[in-house]
Amino acid sequence: MAPQELRYEGQTVVVTGAGGGLGREYAVFFGSRGANVVVNDLGGSFKGEGKGSQAADAVVNEIRSAGGKAVANYDSVENGASIIKTAIDNFGRIDILINNAGILRDVSFKNMKQQDWDLIYKVHIYGAWSCTRAAWPYFRKQKYGRVINTASAAGLFGSFGQTNYSAAKLALVGFTETLAKEGFKYNIFANIIAPIAASRMTETVMPPDVLENLKPKWIVPLVAVLTHKSNTETGSIYEVGGGHIAKIRWERAKGAFLKPDDSLTPGALAAKWKDVVNFAEAEHPQGPANALEILETAQKLPPSP
Ligand code: NAD
Repeated sequence: MAPQELRYEGQTVVVTGAGGGLGREYAVFFGSRGANVVVNDLGGSFKGEGKGSQAADAVVNEIRSAGGKAVANYDSVENGASIIKTAIDNFGRIDILINNAGILRDVSFKNMKQQDWDLIYKVHIYGAWSCTRAAWPYFRKQKYGRVINTASAAGLFGSFGQTNYSAAKLALVGFTETLAKEGFKYNIFANIIAPIAASRMTETVMPPDVLENLKPKWIVPLVAVLTHKSNTETGSIYEVGGGHIAKIRWERAKGAFLKPDDSLTPGALAAKWKDVVNFAEAEHPQGPANALEILETAQKLPPSP
């Protein structure tokens, strides 16, 4: 189904950090496609300082003046219960949760203060947990839920000056993969995106001509498809930005097999190192399921020379 046909009538969407950037684009989109929208935003700076109601109010007004249904919530994502309560109190349900709120506290690892670490953890990990935790019982009860979490290339690949942010963003990948496994039988699907787009977060680090080609509205179609009732994908990671959308997956090299006995020494491993890093016959694991198979293969080997 083409995204322009996707609609969300009767569904309630909570978008965290929806007062600007990507979150605003999601909220305006869902508001224009028949959904009830909770526009959550703390209204602080991109470093997580201060707060205010203006950012969320402006987006609510935008949705309402275009004929959509939206309410504001000004809590920090650390208070997920109150954000989900806003959805229940106003619209009686929650169907889609987009954990999007985020901040940056970029500084080299050597100079990072504990506050830089703690604040990133609180907004990105604790915040996503807190909102998902509050929505989960509703999803389970109605046997329907769609969750989008927000990672980053910084989390998948590392990024200078972002040990705090990369750690949090990759943690959300594991969080999402497990939510997908636990939610599956209740028709709760969870996916995670690593976006790249022009926003106040990126405008200081990228040149204007690059930002021009990274419009935040180009992230919306992927989120729209993944949160629609017709979607069948869950537990997946996507990179998205500037008109390119691609699924990402784990890859495991065939690896070295060494008999698990006293012949399994550092020297024996070093002799087989090329197999450890050889991706010519790679697999794409989705869980620890083939661990037994690996164990049996290794047991049958002769001792290492
Ligand atoms: P943004 O700063 O424009 O938007 C983030 C919004 O979250 C802001 O409106 C902010 O007020 C809100 N927010 C911050 N802390 C909050 C809290 N505790 N509670 C509620 N709201 C809070 O940035 P953006 O680029 O739109 O980022 C959106 C998400 O995408 C973030 O999770 C970010 O880490 C992620 N991301 C963005 C990019 C990019 O290229 N823009 C790249 C990778 C990941």
